[in-house]
Amino acid sequence: MKGGRVLAPATVIAPSGRLVRHLKHAAAHRFPEGLFGVRFANLFQFALDLAGDAGGRFVPDVLFYERLLLRWLESPGERPFAGEDVRTYDLAGALHAAIRDMKDAAVPCDPELLIDALRVATGDPGSRLSALDLRKFGALLAAYQHYEGELRRLGVADRSDIFRAAAGRARHAVGPLLVYGFYDMTQVQADLVTELVRAIPVTLLVPRGADRETWRFGDWLCAAVPVDAAEPLPSPAPPPTPEVHTAAGERDEVWLCAKRVRRLLDAGCRPEEIAVVARTLDPYLAPLAALFGEHRIPCDAPPGRALLDHPLAQAILGLFRAALDDLPRAPTLDVVGHPLFRGPADRRHWDLLARSLRIGRGDDWSRLDAHARRGFRIAAGRETADDRRSIVVPPAAVRALRAAIRRVRHALPAADAGWGGHATAHLETLRRCFRLDMLLDEEAQVVEAVRDVLATLAGLDALGETIPRAAFVEAFERECRRRRLGAPAPRGVAVLDAMAARGLPFRHVFLLGLNARVFPRFIVEEPFISDAVRREVFRVLGHHLPVRLDAYDEERLLFHLMRSAPAEGLVCLYQRADADGRLRDPSPFLRPFLPLAREAIDAIPRSDRAKRGRGEIATPRELLRAAPDASAALAAFGFDALAYDRARAFLAALDGEREVSAFEGRVGPLAPEWMARSIGRLSPTRLERFATCPFRYFAEEVLRVLPADEVVEGEDLSPREIGKLMHALLERLYSRLAARDFHPDHLAAELARAAADVAAEFERQAHLPLRGVLRARFAEIVRAVEAFAAFDLATLGDWEPVWFEERATVPFAELVLGGQLDRIDRHRRTGALRVVDYKRRFGVHWQTALATQARRGEKLQAPLYLRLAPAVAARHGVAGAVATQAVFQFVEDYLRGDPAVDEIREERLVRAFTAEESDACRDDVEQAVATFASFIRNGWFFIHVADGQGGHCARCDFGSICRKNYGRLRRKPERMPALTRYWEIVRP
Ligand code: SF4
Repeated sequence: MKGGRVLAPATVIAPSGRLVRHLKHAAAHRFPEGLFGVRFANLFQFALDLAGDAGGRFVPDVLFYERLLLRWLESPGERPFAGEDVRTYDLAGALHAAIRDMKDAAVPCDPELLIDALRVATGDPGSRLSALDLRKFGALLAAYQHYEGELRRLGVADRSDIFRAAAGRARHAVGPLLVYGFYDMTQVQADLVTELVRAIPVTLLVPRGADRETWRFGDWLCAAVPVDAAEPLPSPAPPPTPEVHTAAGERDEVWLCAKRVRRLLDAGCRPEEIAVVARTLDPYLAPLAALFGEHRIPCDAPPGRALLDHPLAQAILGLFRAALDDLPRAPTLDVVGHPLFRGPADRRHWDLLARSLRIGRGDDWSRLDAHARRGFRIAAGRETADDRRSIVVPPAAVRALRAAIRRVRHALPAADAGWGGHATAHLETLRRCFRLDMLLDEEAQVVEAVRDVLATLAGLDALGETIPRAAFVEAFERECRRRRLGAPAPRGVAVLDAMAARGLPFRHVFLLGLNARVFPRFIVEEPFISDAVRREVFRVLGHHLPVRLDAYDEERLLFHLMRSAPAEGLVCLYQRADADGRLRDPSPFLRPFLPLAREAIDAIPRSDRAKRGRGEIATPRELLRAAPDASAALAAFGFDALAYDRARAFLAALDGEREVSAFEGRVGPLAPEWMARSIGRLSPTRLERFATCPFRYFAEEVLRVLPADEVVEGEDLSPREIGKLMHALLERLYSRLAARDFHPDHLAAELARAAADVAAEFERQAHLPLRGVLRARFAEIVRAVEAFAAFDLATLGDWEPVWFEERATVPFAELVLGGQLDRIDRHRRTGALRVVDYKRRFGVHWQTALATQARRGEKLQAPLYLRLAPAVAARHGVAGAVATQAVFQFVEDYLRGDPAVDEIREERLVRAFTAEESDACRDDVEQAVATFASFIRNGWFFIHVADGQGGHCARCDFGSICRKNYGRLRRKPERMPALTRYWEIVRP
């Protein structure tokens, strides 16, 4: 190339940085004594150096151009493609891509000329342009014209401008020049090469092959670039025959790939000689990182993690957004709770504190002030007589959270500013709020990336605009979404997408994901410039606008390049089904290499055991899993063998034994302190819980596990709080009405007073003002109570409510059972007692007769209440009274209709259980209670599953820990003779 002049300068140009690197290595290998004066560059680097002044005006950040177009979309006047709700960065980004296509094709920015030319062309019988195509194209040209005008006004050059400027200065280039490896170019790139050919000696090395079908893509380039005499090079050796495997899901593809690569490395192949290629790498990055790590394969893979996936990046974005979004609770807590956020070390209870105070956003945070001096007590148990667990948040912790929230609120100035001003303020805030002096490696990368994004945004100052902070943060987030966390230094096996792998030779190539619609990818037309317009622009005006659907030709060429890249081995993998079992088709490119009988293709099995049977190389982890004595193997490798033994024993008990084991609820008699919890203070509600599901009883009453969502999310009242408020209101109301002889005329006034008292008491106890959603919910409770009381007062007759919220205990089946009665009525003439129990709503489980449910142990309240009521009366000096009925009132259902009018509904409002019914089932009920008590004493806490429609599992909070979905576990208790009595009671 240098014509014997060793010291003469020369330049080699390639399409990509990776190919440049490859050429440098190849040259160093071929000329070990060194090459003097040879420069390697990609085409854009070369153009940038040649472009003169324009190079200094180049702005690389895509955001700059998107912002420019977004301003146009948002400017007054009707904009094409842009309704009020779609003037977004996404639309600006799509417009920019279409305009870039036109500039790359050197389409002149003269709408009238272009449209006229195309309109004339529509008269041509060969033209396939429609009027709609022309209208859409015309609309886009308006954006193009604005874009060009703005770039000129701001003195900015984009990539296409650089190529054009370089073409204009081609005579300043220093030759000779070798242009290597391009099978396609944009029009402006081709124009540059054409000018270079005219000015200096240029050698073009263009990949071409004999097969017309394969090499159709890029035909236009050969015609566009002048060549004196094409000189074919010797054909390379034919590529190896592909070895085809099929897998289910990406992970299994990567699994085989890892095994084979490991084997090649062990056989002495250098990592750089191996490539793993997929059309799109994204779905493979996670399994590649995991399995290549496990197989100790060094690899040169793109960074798998997006910047905004990192918690620190999210916290920084949250800090910038918080005040704009009025300090929403969860994102703001993520910011102030981040370990690098400056604040006290102990932030354990901040989240619980904010949720307990029902802080939603904005001024809600001032609720912290009320507890800054005394701290805050959070109920952490069920607030029953024997479970009053609580967490006390000390005043210092409350004050620290308040201070942190203030810091976030005032972290950034609210005023409009230029891009640079905002960027400086945000950077300063980042420094002030986060400890940047103690970052781990990856956190340092995050902060570096954020600084870089801020610097990019500061560059938008060239637009000379003043913007609100919200616009700045929106652009910040968009730019962050483009970034990925630091690429590792290139080393090892190349992991590439097909575009990046073009032109690179290897010894062995693994081609992943050879499925239909993946490779070739599924291609759709571009929305702004249809393929018909693109073809016409080329046909009529000679500007090469790439036709989208022609990209199928490029896909075919790409596959050919991948197939011919390896010198020794090519392994092709496709998915017969995805990881969820959905069937998938192989790529049409693979068809020539597939045997007619699909069974002849090697299918990678799904199960680990079957994979082990293939005799592939095994990793230490796989050896451990397969070891006959895994415990000893684990101990030998230094792992926790004890935990493994325990887990294994557990699984063996589940799978092997026929009886309920210690892992499945047979805990045996408990130690005294636990026994006090399990059998002490038995109540009908607790026994009902045992009848429903012994494991649930164990979790709730013995272990006292709280459901995960016990602390309410959002601002609404929790179901427990609603129940407590309703009971308190009814008690207060009926106590007041007693002084008015329960006359309905006094209902409205007394209800208003009772409601005011209850609301004030709630606010005092919960430290929470009843405002907004809470106030609306409370008003709903008051309305339900009013509807119920109106009906109740009208139908009281001779019954007189006398005692409210009374506790009592009675002997029952050789036990002492206790309970709390909502209300006891006394008959004015007979002196008989009636128990009234308030429930919120009627449910399907109330449909079965109460006596039947009492026999099954499902509803024991009624028979027990009939015994407790006389004990309460005796305490009040009324001896010998008899309770004749227990009545359950479904208070909220009274809001849904008028029971006086709608008689059919009445049974959904009230359920009654009489003394006669109680006598008839007394023996059965006592036996059920005694049996349950005996099971509890002996430590039987197995699961009782009812997960069909209306089954009790639907109302249980422990479904995520009871493992009821494991078939053997749910069947064993039902088959065990020792538990027969339980099933006879609950399922007679
Ligand atoms: S989900 Fe069903 S089986 Fe599981 S603990 Fe709850 S009631 Fe028992």
